[in-house]
Amino acid sequence: MPDIIQLLPDSIANQIAAGEVVQRPASAVKELIENSIDADSTQIKLILKEAGKTLLQIIDNGKGMSETDARMSLERHATSKIRKAEDLFTLRTMGFRGEALASIAAVSQMEMKTRLSEDELGTLLVVEGSDIKRQEPVVCDKGTSISVKNLFYNIPARRNFLKSNASEYQHILDEFQRLALSHPEIAFQLIETDSIEYDLAPGKLSQRIVGIFGKAYQEQLAPCLEDTPLMKITGYVGKPHSAKKKRGEQFLFVNKRFVRNNYLNHAVMSAFEGLLADGSFPFYVLFIEIDPKHVDVNVHPTKTEIKFDDERAVYAVVLSAVRQAIGAHNLTPAIDFDEDVNIISKLTNASSQSKEIYFEERFSTSLKRSNLENWEKVFDDDKFVTPTPRPLNPSHQTLRFESSLNQGEDIQEEKVCFQLHSKYIVKQVKSGMMIVDQQAAHERILFEKFIQQLKNRSAQSQQSLFPQTITFNAADFALVMEMQQEIEALGFRLEVFGKNTILVNGVPGNISSRSERDLFEGLIEQFKINQAELSVPLGENLARALAKRASIKTGQVLIREEMKALIDQLFVCTSPNYSPDGRPTFFIFDMSKIESYFNRP
Ligand code: ADP
Ligand code: MG
Repeated sequence: MPDIIQLLPDSIANQIAAGEVVQRPASAVKELIENSIDADSTQIKLILKEAGKTLLQIIDNGKGMSETDARMSLERHATSKIRKAEDLFTLRTMGFRGEALASIAAVSQMEMKTRLSEDELGTLLVVEGSDIKRQEPVVCDKGTSISVKNLFYNIPARRNFLKSNASEYQHILDEFQRLALSHPEIAFQLIETDSIEYDLAPGKLSQRIVGIFGKAYQEQLAPCLEDTPLMKITGYVGKPHSAKKKRGEQFLFVNKRFVRNNYLNHAVMSAFEGLLADGSFPFYVLFIEIDPKHVDVNVHPTKTEIKFDDERAVYAVVLSAVRQAIGAHNLTPAIDFDEDVNIISKLTNASSQSKEIYFEERFSTSLKRSNLENWEKVFDDDKFVTPTPRPLNPSHQTLRFESSLNQGEDIQEEKVCFQLHSKYIVKQVKSGMMIVDQQAAHERILFEKFIQQLKNRSAQSQQSLFPQTITFNAADFALVMEMQQEIEALGFRLEVFGKNTILVNGVPGNISSRSERDLFEGLIEQFKINQAELSVPLGENLARALAKRASIKTGQVLIREEMKALIDQLFVCTSPNYSPDGRPTFFIFDMSKIESYFNRP
């Protein structure tokens, strides 16, 4: 029998490879723009016709190619980016496989014009399905322009497989946004069928984000920065209340390369725990810089999946960086207080060490900034005398409590704190006026307290004078039994009292409720609602449910001491800015904003 194995002709081999690299117009766009970035371009223009199906053209002002290189660039495994196997481990460029141009050329009608800056004439190459039809000198700008016409013209099956223009355009947009985000220093333009869709000037990342997603994002970004010996994280996360119902505006880049990594996405989401309405997704654009030797990018040809050699360490850094970013924002109002002496007394006397550490972390940024040495100076303001430190009463945790003010401060308090429509608390702060949503704020306070109690099993219980029985249906009764431990950790005391019936003879201390039964039934009801809507651990669900049910409600009239205590307690929370389901708890009207209403020309 004769030998039958033959090497495939290049054009066929390239077509096969193209199947992996080029799935749709968007993948060609990605590869070509990456090449432009690798070529040190400062301006990249993408022109599309029919979502890239009839034309996609990338014009850059990068270093261009010599005649020989232009020709070489179309060969498979031809690359200027690595020379030896070890180079793979120090990779800093986007490309390296040397497959993209060969693959795209194999499945399209391609035209390339390219010129080195030092050359007078450039090179024109016309290629059709890997066949070089023309090659000649040409007058052209410095840099490279590649047009790809009729992608898959020679593979009807692939061409028919393309989706609608809208859908293909969306894919292109995704790639374009990722590349533009990861390179804010490069000017990008996107022109679809003669209309300029994006015209992004070079600038800072924050400007690029606003350029792509719109002005509204300006106010919603919290900067994220963490520098460790292993890696550096930079970027922005969206504040929790701006989270969207759809995923998608979440971008993670490793050494400037967009990646998908569920594990690290989980780290980000964990940092937002207890701050988001369920089913909503926070915005983020995060960059990890890490020595390429800790990363394997070579696991997938389209390179959006990567592997770290120590994923858990990376996870921990991401989690902490994002937590800090969200937390750092809680700082602003707290250090801004006009005369809030209680925060200082809490700082200097905080019985719990962790609180102290917490404050130290939270305040250290601003301290560093203003180069202050001690806490008191943060509040330096001749309007009030240095407070006499007062021991923090450990039961001074919820609302039903004595005012922690001393007589002298009362007078000033009076004029700066009042309730608005039984819904908000208005208070003067240094930068202007703060408005607190009483219900959202109290939910936050209670939630954090309950979480703490669940953790430490430290809840106080208040003996009921007239214990009440509650009868449930069988399913709810089973649920209550299942959660008995956690429910008791919150301060309830239960006893089984006949079929499907329990006796509640203790309720959490310091919670005001008209009846034990209402409170308990409400808790179980809310727990079930949460369960249907949320996917959070049982403990968190219970804490959320009880916080919701036991909180002060809109419409409740508060006395001054209660308002004062509410605000004090809000600002010792770990995340005072939002209710557990992500509603803002307060808002500050800046003096300049207020003044602007009166200074109209
Ligand atoms: P890779 O990017 O993996 O090296 P490609 O097939 O995408 O492989 O490109 C092959 C080579 O062509 C690159 O290594 C580079 O030297 C050159 N090249 C491609 N596009 C450009 C461009 N826009 N400007 C300058 N050189 C380019
Ligand atoms: Mg490339």
